Amino acid sequence: MCAFSRIRRFLDERDPPTPCLVVDTDVVAARAREFRSAFPGALIRYAVKANPAPPVLDALVAAGIGFDVAGPAELALCLARGAAAEDIAYGNPIKKPRDIADAFARGVREFTSDAAADVDHLAREAPGSAVSIRVVLDAPDSVTPFGRKFGCAPAEALDLVLHAAARGLRPGIAFHVGSQQPDVTAWEIGIATAAKLFAEAAAQGVTMTRLNLGGGFATTHRTAVPPLDAYAATIASALETHFPSGRPEVLLEPGRVLVADAGLLRTEVVLVADRGGRRWVYLDIGRYNGLAEAENEAIAYRFEPVSGGGPSGPVVLAGPTCDGDDVLYQRTRYELPLSLRTGDRLDVPGTGAYTASYASVGFNGIEPLRTYCLGSWGDV
Ligand SMILES: *Cc1c(COP(=O)(O)O)cnc(C)c1O
Repeated sequence: MCAFSRIRRFLDERDPPTPCLVVDTDVVAARAREFRSAFPGALIRYAVKANPAPPVLDALVAAGIGFDVAGPAELALCLARGAAAEDIAYGNPIKKPRDIADAFARGVREFTSDAAADVDHLAREAPGSAVSIRVVLDAPDSVTPFGRKFGCAPAEALDLVLHAAARGLRPGIAFHVGSQQPDVTAWEIGIATAAKLFAEAAAQGVTMTRLNLGGGFATTHRTAVPPLDAYAATIASALETHFPSGRPEVLLEPGRVLVADAGLLRTEVVLVADRGGRRWVYLDIGRYNGLAEAENEAIAYRFEPVSGGGPSGPVVLAGPTCDGDDVLYQRTRYELPLSLRTGDRLDVPGTGAYTASYASVGFNGIEPLRTYCLGSWGDV
């Protein structure tokens, strides 16, 4: 795949210690342009937690993309990389009043909320701000769903909207269909739910103008997902159907889809062992130093031998730590060359999102996943 050829060349020439992640910032910029043209007119706020590497943020600032931050550290990072406060949304519904005050002082005027106490905190610490009330949807689960942690029931959302308006905030509606969501109908359900709330609020004299469609756009690992155009077409037609008298101002918070395909991770085989008739392959990457999303075998990454080949057979894949849960895949079927030995390298493409940012700081003394950034905004 040509997207990864420059990364592979860097890895072959520089041979940095494994495991490591290499991100091509020109691919990030290209993905940002592609996303923007798929959703003309929408305000785009990149979810920083997917990959907060400064060169990634630099590429997105240059592409004119805004940011969705979860707290003061991500906010400070975005501002330090040159993002404008008015292009930053504080999208985490779970936040301390002093962190709201800090964001407001730095110029942030866009928030998400899903509980009455948080709306009160916002009214006090961020007066007059735009606040999207996040609703939980009755929609298909994504690959890595949020469960019931976020969002209020639509019936409760109307109360929060009216409450926010009464406290001088500017309410809108937000939803997030879950990360790695391959079912585009989830957004249809969200937009229909939001339209009903817009109408109910209007009937009570509150005009809403903003609709935040969240993130969740999926990327391909072993299973193909819909192309970006399919998401865009579904969303455009749902907006037309459910907001016939004019669509609201739309916000999008893509994370994964802007960075996953810009990154490739290289790992080394630590040990191969036969246990009870199964071949266990232990890698120097595991759930604690970069592949956290293998939890429950939710995201099934591709593992490609860097060299060698020949006949292959089934494997169990596990990480390097002394932790029984640091197993990557024992139910998902994987095959690797029978010749695979200690020291052999594997590439894991499409790993630019939720890898380095999820690595522990040093469990078992293993350092967090090192990131090298290439391209126009690179640091190597
Ligand atoms: C994580 C997150 C996102 C990004 O989700 P992706 O699935 O990576 O697109 C967007 N919005 C909020 C509020 C989030 O927490």
